[in-house]
Amino acid sequence: MTQHDNLINGQWLAGNSYSPNLNPSNLADVIGHYTQGDAVQVGEAVQAARSAFVAWSVSGIQARADALDKIGNEILARKEELGSLLAREEGKTRAEGVGEAARAGNIFKFFAGECLRLGGETLPSVRPGIGVDITREPVGVVGLITPWNFPLAIPAWKIAPALAHGNCVVFKPADLVPGCAWALADIISRSGIPAGVFNLVMGRGSVIGDALVNHPGIDAISFTGSQGVGARIAQACAQSLKKVQLEMGGKNPQVVLDDADLQTAVELCVQSAFFSTGQRCTASSRLIVTEGIYPKFIDAMKKRMTTLKVGDALEAGIDIGPVSSQSQLEQDLSYVDIGKAEGALLAAGGQRLKLALDGFYMAPALFSESVASMRINREEIFGPVASVIQVRDYEEALATANDTPFGLSAGIATTSLKYATHFKRHSQAGMVMVNLPTAGVDYHVPFGGRKASSYGPREQGRYAQEFFTTVKTAYTLA
Ligand code: NAP
Repeated sequence: MTQHDNLINGQWLAGNSYSPNLNPSNLADVIGHYTQGDAVQVGEAVQAARSAFVAWSVSGIQARADALDKIGNEILARKEELGSLLAREEGKTRAEGVGEAARAGNIFKFFAGECLRLGGETLPSVRPGIGVDITREPVGVVGLITPWNFPLAIPAWKIAPALAHGNCVVFKPADLVPGCAWALADIISRSGIPAGVFNLVMGRGSVIGDALVNHPGIDAISFTGSQGVGARIAQACAQSLKKVQLEMGGKNPQVVLDDADLQTAVELCVQSAFFSTGQRCTASSRLIVTEGIYPKFIDAMKKRMTTLKVGDALEAGIDIGPVSSQSQLEQDLSYVDIGKAEGALLAAGGQRLKLALDGFYMAPALFSESVASMRINREEIFGPVASVIQVRDYEEALATANDTPFGLSAGIATTSLKYATHFKRHSQAGMVMVNLPTAGVDYHVPFGGRKASSYGPREQGRYAQEFFTTVKTAYTLA
């Protein structure tokens, strides 16, 4: 069985042990064995990155652009193979996996272009005869910590801007999905980037993540994951005065108004709630529906859900792959029990599925007759479980949509320009969708939320420079 090592200072190095990487569609399928690093290896990776930073931070922008472009080209050329690996490892359908691989490739190519667009400002001083230049410089050595649900795209949207802006990287992927991380590191290692600029250390969050966050040689941490871990990382970073960026969970509302086109509304709710097995931070698990369309909406959703095919992520024609892990499946099923105990009506699905292959399969669950205060409507479930909340009118729908500790993405299905415009302005979310699913975003524009969903500057697009650079103001006597 192939063994995969950490990348430190340009060398592939074994950690203390190896863990098997299992396919959630077929537990008999071992994808490979991936090494588990430790705090000593984190220290070596940070040291390598600090040494490499001296030259990389002032390296030519053409060399950086060429390297990022090369990485993007290879990912795009291998998107079918990488998308299949992603589907096999994480459980998204193959089509979703290939789409994510293409997105990762495009992100590197976008940031290759950004290397050539690093601008500054020149202003006159308020004191005559003096000039003022405002420039952006790299932050330093950044620790990047990523979750399991987008194992190519999220690493790409942190690594690419970090490198484009002249930072050095120590990357710690989620322990559940080391395969995509290792494949990405392998591509980056052959891109012409000097040794030590990019380092990969695989292993547990409580070991590798914790060592990174607390290492004095790390200048900044960019984290995507759960709110609980994110809050603890923010505290540790505050203690050591590290710059920090957190992208965390969501409890995203999808509003459906009486005037919505029913078919459009049902399609986007099914996509928001259940595609990628509901395992997207931007997935919608609260479907907020006004009373005039509510009965028709429930009937149409139930009918549409009978057509959804759950199965092996690599099989053609599958709509929904397995849940990614045993613990996530247990969490999803426990929320189905919680919803029933709270008095919501389980209108469809919600049970574990036994298929030909032994995997973590679950029938997507829809609750009707739920109310906003129920735990299923307040806590992030992170699986194929959605509930419908009936409301009187647009005003109650908006208030219900905003009544959450989270604020990542929010959607509305309506044919009314008035309500669409009002919702875009008054939704307390970082991203708003009109007649589109809450999940599914572009790679060249900012991504992020409000409230407990995000902390610090936005990711992606030009806005990524806010986190990955620090501003310098220089005064020159003419
Ligand atoms: P998680 O459990 O918080 O883990 C995220 C990352 O943090 C993993 O690499 C994990 O390592 C690491 N980690 C765990 N404990 C740590 C510690 N003490 N110190 C430092 N790092 C530590 O989240 P997840 O289950 O992977 O992902 C699901 C969550 O991510 C959901 O809440 C989802 O909404 C959120 N998410 C948010 C966005 C967004 O952009 N807003 C996007 C995708 C996902 P190990 O896994 O190796 O233990």
